[in-house]
Amino acid sequence: MTLRELDLAPWLAGVLAFVWGSLWGSFLNVVIYRVPRGMSVVRPSSHCPACAAAIRPLDNIPVLSWLWLGGRARCCGVRVSPRYVAVEVLGGLVALGIFEVAIRPLPADTTLAHAASIFLADFALALALIAAAFIDLSHMFLPDSITLGGTLFGLATPGLRGLGWSDALIGAGVGLLGVWLPFIVGYRALRGRPGMGLGDAKLVMLAGAWFGWAGAAFALFAGALQATLGAIVVLLVHGRIEEPEAVRLDREELRRAADQGDAEAARALAADPLANPPDEGVMAARMPFGPFLCLAIIE
Ligand SMILES: [Zn+2]
Repeated sequence: MTLRELDLAPWLAGVLAFVWGSLWGSFLNVVIYRVPRGMSVVRPSSHCPACAAAIRPLDNIPVLSWLWLGGRARCCGVRVSPRYVAVEVLGGLVALGIFEVAIRPLPADTTLAHAASIFLADFALALALIAAAFIDLSHMFLPDSITLGGTLFGLATPGLRGLGWSDALIGAGVGLLGVWLPFIVGYRALRGRPGMGLGDAKLVMLAGAWFGWAGAAFALFAGALQATLGAIVVLLVHGRIEEPEAVRLDREELRRAADQGDAEAARALAADPLANPPDEGVMAARMPFGPFLCLAIIE
């Protein structure tokens, strides 16, 4: 079956893409909450983080339930962060965007299976990047399951983006070395601390595996430009760049355990680039770069 034979009205295809994306966005909220806490994403089913009551399916409809319930949980009335809705809307918009950019321009004799493969691969990448962005934003680390898993997925599917195997391999190599050499090895030699995390290098490697060396270069430069704009906005609004609260709490807990003679905590602390509070001043401020790289890769 081809796209011509399916003959779906463009507006209907757009609505379906958005609804599909927002349902996955809803699942993504579970991933963002549970993965950094080492919890399973399938079990237990959704429950209220405040009172542990199970969430009824009708109260779990993306976007609409939140609006209908006035941004509060039905069980105990606790305020539900608008971030949950934002992630659902983001999922819907990204699915719609991928449909418009990668699927609609395909020739009408493209088979449905091929179009679906392109859409699903791009959409899976976008979901993983949104999850990575939010995890990095609050915990300042990028899970290897996303950066390395996403790189392997990209290396396995270059044909879906009109690339060859060598484009994907060269792209991944350029992406990894292009960040690792100057910003980790070089920066440490000059300033005594790395300018970027290894997770950021793996993320640019992912961009190269998916979109070739030019894609890796775009991700790095567009990410840096947007991070600079983001930092300026944060400085204008808050006057300073704060370290995420979860990072500070993790560090304090590790230090307490290490002070009480926990050898494993002491080892983790010694290996952790975030082990000491940041120095004063804008140049030493800690801001996660991952969310901006993820944004650039989606773009
Ligand atoms: Zn509750």
